[in-house]
Amino acid sequence: TANILELHGVSRSYVTRRGLLGKKVPVHAVDGVSLSLQPGKTLALVGESGSGKSTTGRIALGLERPQNGHVRFQGAALPPADTPAWRHLRARMQMIYQDPLAVLDRRLFILDQVREPLDIHDIGPVSNRNDKALAILQAVGLNARHAASLPHQLSGGQRQRAVLARALIMQPALLVCDEPVSALDVSIQAQIVNLLMDLQQELHLSLLFISHDLKVVRQISQTMAVMYLGRIVEYGETGRLLSDPLHPYTRALVSAVPVAGRRTNQRILLKGEPPNPAARPTGCAFHPRCPIARGECRSISPPFSTLPDGRSVACHAVEADTRTKEAGA
Ligand code: ATP
Ligand code: SF4
Ligand code: MG
Repeated sequence: TANILELHGVSRSYVTRRGLLGKKVPVHAVDGVSLSLQPGKTLALVGESGSGKSTTGRIALGLERPQNGHVRFQGAALPPADTPAWRHLRARMQMIYQDPLAVLDRRLFILDQVREPLDIHDIGPVSNRNDKALAILQAVGLNARHAASLPHQLSGGQRQRAVLARALIMQPALLVCDEPVSALDVSIQAQIVNLLMDLQQELHLSLLFISHDLKVVRQISQTMAVMYLGRIVEYGETGRLLSDPLHPYTRALVSAVPVAGRRTNQRILLKGEPPNPAARPTGCAFHPRCPIARGECRSISPPFSTLPDGRSVACHAVEADTRTKEAGA
């Protein structure tokens, strides 16, 4: 099947001011990231804070344009920003965030906020818009009373449902979910994740799902990409990555969560400082923290190689291992 979304070697850096003297430092937020997502499927993006997940999500939606590489949506390059073609396409791609209150207007009733995208894009007869908004609110589990409420009168989970309704009323083909349940209680998280999965089935939605919660990632995604300091270090089928992670960083992440059927459940603790995007280590950026780093790791950036099981890993040790196995076979 054709992919709905493809990222080809996209990079985005920012110049920020750091330290007391406000020295200008380039931050490579995303560096040569390639990904693809099939229609109706979910691709999860995981990695520590600052690894470039949100930037990748914004690039996927064209909200941020890469300095290098390109994005293809439904088989075509994204039109330049500020063109009618782009505004039209933009409606087919939506994003939801961790904090619904950052999206919702405190002074407006939920119904009006869910209807608003239809008004902005002038979609459908005006007389039908309230009914449409109410119907989509019902689809996400809210009722007429919620529709007539202000954001602060709803719970966190209900607000996230409202934000979801506002995104879905545009009938998007792609929905980027940036940590959509991280701020919610665990029991509510499960409800929202289940709702997303049901809606995905019903509406044939494609999801780019950003999360640091591997349990949620396992439930919702078919493929996953692990990011470290702006690059993907391991990418493949979610089940395989979680049951048999190969990259030392993926191993450490996975070891923090018990997974049934995994060979070892020993926790791997990473030494060293958490990654700093403004001071990217040379060679393999993970080398200062890697338990199995070798000489070449300090100077040579590991190439991304695809293994027989279809996953891709960027690690010298994994590559050497694969070569040995192939030679032995
Ligand atoms: P988190 O888990 O904390 O949300 P993330 O993986 O989503 O992290 P990004 O938000 O993509 O990470 O940021 C990656 C790096 O790029 C960070 O160092 C961040 O400070 C930097 N960055 C992102 N956007 C900007 C911007 N608009 N201006 C300057 N720096 C930015
Ligand atoms: Fe560790 Fe080297 Fe692999 Fe990087 S390339 S993850 S430092 S073994
Ligand atoms: Mg983020």
